Amino acid sequence: MSASIKYILLICLGFFSCSKQEKTQGNWSSWTEKNGRIKVLSTTAMIDDLVGEVGGERVDRLTLIRGEIDPHSYELVKGDEEKIAFAEIVFNNGLGLEHGASLQYQLQKHPHKVALGNEIQKRAKEAMIFVDGKIDPHVWMDISLWATAIDPIVEALSQADPDHTNFYVQNGAKLREKMLATHQDLIERLHAVPEKSRYLVTSHDAFNYFARAYLAERDEQTQEKWQKRFVAPEGLAPDGQLSSADIQKTIDHLSRYQIGVVFPESNVSRDSLKKIVSACKEKGLTVKISSAALYGDAMGPAGSAADNYLKMIGHNSTVLLQEWKQIHE
Ligand SMILES: [Zn+2]
Repeated sequence: MSASIKYILLICLGFFSCSKQEKTQGNWSSWTEKNGRIKVLSTTAMIDDLVGEVGGERVDRLTLIRGEIDPHSYELVKGDEEKIAFAEIVFNNGLGLEHGASLQYQLQKHPHKVALGNEIQKRAKEAMIFVDGKIDPHVWMDISLWATAIDPIVEALSQADPDHTNFYVQNGAKLREKMLATHQDLIERLHAVPEKSRYLVTSHDAFNYFARAYLAERDEQTQEKWQKRFVAPEGLAPDGQLSSADIQKTIDHLSRYQIGVVFPESNVSRDSLKKIVSACKEKGLTVKISSAALYGDAMGPAGSAADNYLKMIGHNSTVLLQEWKQIHE
């Protein structure tokens, strides 16, 4: 298909089939314009945020999986195929996060796709976490590790637009500095809580990297030691299929470490946590569900306290600090 036919098709698609929500986000029209900017599609908002910081006004961005939608099981909807085909660069998380078959198929076909999680794995192999033999894809939950994605973004944008390489390199350096400073700040904020209270229980296995980076003691860096800091009844992808063994394992953990609060996730059903809290009650254990949810696989809506990547991780930390303070007062 020639580039001009592609443009005409995309403009027609934009006119006839794009939703009201896409129009209000203001990026669909520029996506179809020949304006010299690189068209970059990211599968998740956490990726898009880094691309925006590195690419600035040199890129037109689209995020495929927005709002509260689960990235693990996302399947393409009308118009997605054209968005992917039209993107000059597609950044995805990889490491098995986006395992919907239709999305996988289109990603594999794209000539310039960069799986940032896999790039992180190449650069920081020893930092990857495995759960029951499977690699954990939630790498954005440790800010210092997610900063490893900056270089592959700088490289891909520079390759597409070599005249502005310095611009991307400088933005990348500034972003890395900001991320590493926030990382240190969060360690200090969360370590102000006594170590006996730094135990996190959520719905699914999205917070292993977070627990290791921000909740574990410095001498707990091996998986056997830091793993006690985080437990979730559902596995690496939330599916709501709980076995009695999953429930019992979580109850035992809550009891062993005297954990009084569990945290729901913004885009995951609370059913599994409700079952666990109710089973705890039958055994005489008092456990509450936090009134505020954490963001695991999604960010907050525009204008909220979690509407960009660093704010989202900061929001999660604030929720934990507030709930733990209440429990231990
Ligand atoms: Zn997840």
